[in-house]
Amino acid sequence: MKKYKCNCENIPIGSYDNQVALQAPIWSQKNRISVDSCLSPEIRYLWLCGVRTTGCCCGHNQLEPISGLNQNP
Ligand SMILES: [Zn+2]
Repeated sequence: MKKYKCNCENIPIGSYDNQVALQAPIWSQKNRISVDSCLSPEIRYLWLCGVRTTGCCCGHNQLEPISGLNQNP
């Protein structure tokens, strides 16, 4: 299996570096939500499809990427 490789270099786990602030979807209480820039296309697509996310991390080339999905919209 090909390992996921993102654009993060020297970004420690737990760091909020390399994030972008996206316009939050209508269901959110926030105006903007910051996500790892590597995942922003996928997160925006999930929101476009009506999926509610709870958080995400690209893994910064050290861990597997994750996206938390809310099962009770
Ligand atoms: Zn990344």
